[in-house]
Amino acid sequence: MHLYIHIPFCHRICPYCSFYKHTPGNTDMKRFIDALLKEASMRLPGHPPVTTVYFGGGTPSMLSSTHLARLVEGLKAYANLSSIEEFSFEANPATFTAKKVCQWKNLGITRISLGIQSWDPGFLSMLGRTHTPEQARESIRLLRQAGMPQVNVDLMFSLPGQSIASWQDTLATTLEQNPDHISTYNLTYEEDTDFYRQHAAGLMESDMERDAAMFELAHNMLTEAGYRHYETSNYAREGALSRHNLAYWQGEDYIGLGPGAYSTVGRIRSFNTSDTTAYMDALLERNLVPEQREYLDDAAYRTERIGLLLRTDEGLPNSWLRPCDRPLVEELIREQMAARKHSGHLVLTGQGRLLVDEIAVELID
Ligand code: SF4
Repeated sequence: MHLYIHIPFCHRICPYCSFYKHTPGNTDMKRFIDALLKEASMRLPGHPPVTTVYFGGGTPSMLSSTHLARLVEGLKAYANLSSIEEFSFEANPATFTAKKVCQWKNLGITRISLGIQSWDPGFLSMLGRTHTPEQARESIRLLRQAGMPQVNVDLMFSLPGQSIASWQDTLATTLEQNPDHISTYNLTYEEDTDFYRQHAAGLMESDMERDAAMFELAHNMLTEAGYRHYETSNYAREGALSRHNLAYWQGEDYIGLGPGAYSTVGRIRSFNTSDTTAYMDALLERNLVPEQREYLDDAAYRTERIGLLLRTDEGLPNSWLRPCDRPLVEELIREQMAARKHSGHLVLTGQGRLLVDEIAVELID
């Protein structure tokens, strides 16, 4: 079983971000940890041992050492954490010290995911990021010096005004840092964000040809440097694939704790309220998990499986394909946009990787 914990606090809100998050304001952090542990006590008992833990957000590295230690130790009362294979934690550069990294390691954290996004001061400023390139380098150095087993770097591309040469510099600078894992995300304009509003008003541009060229450039540079392109947006050194994210893509059960968190156990999907105050009040004053539930019927389940598995380099097992999909599959293979693995799975290649969402829609229809 896999465990996700959502920490929704950020010092400052990035204008492109659509995750559930907010500034801490006057949130009582002790009460927030109480609520998370209460939810843990109601959701976790009776499940198999936890194999991966992921603290996401928001900015989990904003939790104080005291609160984080209390939370991690407290979880052990409700779940078997003795056979964890990977414990990931999202952090922003320049928000932690060597002392904090030592504490994270002592708590069992094995993987830090750093939201670097760009090495260009101008783009960092456009993205509302508060760190400098030098601080990002220093954060990686601190993690390495403290012996953090794995470091992931998150990058964004196809930013307004970004040239191919600039993205190439970003990738080259990232490779100099030799992270174990690199995630590259195409900027998208998500509803209810500042960037969405600016884009809708014609103040920010998007360019599908640039999207494609930058995706291709990342694939070529990172695979040539020895990284495995194992999911549309993710590259890893041997042995550094994200176990937690693989679990989502492969349809394994996971439980999410915290406001805005999702859980999926079998075909039951539940999602918590995206309101931190309502979340805490429901758990601590009414003994209720503030969630909504839905059942994934065969059609919804197939849609999700195809959408996620096609993104991976393990590909889509034949069992998800229908006889009526055969002409499309044959055409994709003929056009060198897909191939069959030894396992028989259908895996996207070349231009097919770029068109993953469109191909998934065709297979789902
Ligand atoms: S991108 Fe990360 S740091 Fe920025 S607002 Fe979203 S969750 Fe917070």
